Amino acid sequence: MTRAEDVAGGGPLAERHAVVIAGGGPTGLMLAGELALAGVDVAIVERRTSQDLDSSRGGGLHARTIEVLDQRGIADRFLAEGQAMQVQGFSMIPLDISDFPTRHNYGLALWQSTFEPILAGWVVEFDVPIYRGREVRGFAQDDTGVDVHLAGGQTLRAGYLVGCDGGRSLIRKAAGIDFRGSDPSTSWLIAEVEMDEEPEPGIRRDSVGTHGLGRVGDGGPVRVVLTERHLELTGDPSMRELREALVAVYGTDYEAHSPRWISRSTDMTRQAASYRRARVLLAGDAAHVHPPQGGQGLNTGVQDAVNLGWKLAQVVHKTAPESLLDTYHAERHPVGARVLHNTMAQVALNRPDDRHQALRDIMTELLSMDEPRRRIAAMLSGLDIHYDLGEGQPLLGRRMPDLDLDTADGPTRVFTLLHDARPVLLNLGEPGGSDIAPWADRVRLVDARHDGVWELPVIGEVTAPAAVLIRPDGHVAWVGDLTDPELPRALATWFGAATPA
Ligand SMILES: Cc1cc2nc3c(=O)[nH]c(=O)nc-3n(C[C@H](O)[C@H](O)[C@H](O)COP(=O)(O)OP(=O)(O)OC[C@H]3O[C@@H](n4cnc5c(N)ncnc54)[C@H](O)[C@@H]3O)c2cc1C
Repeated sequence: MTRAEDVAGGGPLAERHAVVIAGGGPTGLMLAGELALAGVDVAIVERRTSQDLDSSRGGGLHARTIEVLDQRGIADRFLAEGQAMQVQGFSMIPLDISDFPTRHNYGLALWQSTFEPILAGWVVEFDVPIYRGREVRGFAQDDTGVDVHLAGGQTLRAGYLVGCDGGRSLIRKAAGIDFRGSDPSTSWLIAEVEMDEEPEPGIRRDSVGTHGLGRVGDGGPVRVVLTERHLELTGDPSMRELREALVAVYGTDYEAHSPRWISRSTDMTRQAASYRRARVLLAGDAAHVHPPQGGQGLNTGVQDAVNLGWKLAQVVHKTAPESLLDTYHAERHPVGARVLHNTMAQVALNRPDDRHQALRDIMTELLSMDEPRRRIAAMLSGLDIHYDLGEGQPLLGRRMPDLDLDTADGPTRVFTLLHDARPVLLNLGEPGGSDIAPWADRVRLVDARHDGVWELPVIGEVTAPAAVLIRPDGHVAWVGDLTDPELPRALATWFGAATPA
């Protein structure tokens, strides 16, 4: 039996861990895997007693998330369970990315309720304890760590606490971090129910908004999305409310019954003012909430985790200073802000009146043109994310393309080199000529050849560099040739001071 199963349902707690993660949803699981891969003693405290969800929630993965999973060698597990397709849409205006320069030039239709158990399966392989059926009730931090208080009176000691505890995050509130943004203006009822009468499938627009009905799989329940006439805020809608809302839109409730789940979501849009308070960090929905348009929440949370994991691991191992953690906020807060911004625009574009319809018609026309389509689709799919690492070669701060490589050990590809989440200095020039001995315990030097072009989404073809320094999250930290005096500086910035000879 694995250790995770040992503690499932609330077995004995270890007294201390280097990192405790509050919340074992997509973000917490991904972060736990990243930390465990880097050899950090990490545990998850999760309120749910199993990985089951009370609704299917997120409907899919975008291309960059598939790439990120590919960087860890686990993308196939998800691809095998979902359906690869063009899932990107701006306010439901479809955007095709099949011409994008990536192996994953598509999205994956995969319910969150399927995604989470697969990801949890990966985490369990590292023996990460998942303390299920446990709830974090508060914490107190000091200069050396954090006491994490659980329901039932127990306390865990952690070096760092990460709040991956969703939009209503207790960690965020207890840390006193502002959650700034816009109050909700619209609400949607979302449900899966049985219907005795066959419903009319597809999207319907009326003076209230956009509604949709469709069967989940062959002969499965009907998934219902209804814009509500008036903003409703209670989290627990009833079957009666759903039936009434169906009648208001379709003139019939299609004899709906036996709900698998019914939930309500709104267009509330808020972001944590800071992703870090000393030894406490936030990631995923705990750091940003927004309406589901564009399907970006889960994807953004998973990518937050991949940005934070290797940085926190180095700080825990004391190979890098704590200030490295500030780059997590500096890089991911703007990404979150951009997601909030585009979801607000998508909600506005969906307003049901004639003027918004006119705007929508024009946007539809614009997005049928190549350049606007590429830009917006690259944003929604996460393929254009660019961390501000200074001026220079376009690769700097962007995701490293998954090039085919020839090495002394045979053919490979860039993402395979990242499976163990260690940084890679990829030398495409003459072998030798660099002494990275002071970082050799942390950074892997790979001599390789690549004969094809280098192409980035939106940017297009870029000049092939002599060498690139690739961070464990797959972003390029430095570009140049191995004699560049900036290289030791980049190595020290991202992977800590040189080890003395
Ligand atoms: C209808 C709907 C459709 C969506 N569609 C998409 C989509 O297509 N694509 C997409 O990317 N996103 C989508 N999302 C958003 C996505 O579901 C979320 O962004 C995602 O679940 C966030 O993951 P998370 O791990 O950050 O938070 P959560 O999934 O909320 O996980 C938080 C976890 O913390 C646990 N927890 C909370 N408080 C405590 C505590 N005090 N102690 C211990 N445990 C605690 C919870 O039990 C939960 O397991 C959708 C959401 C909804 C509602």
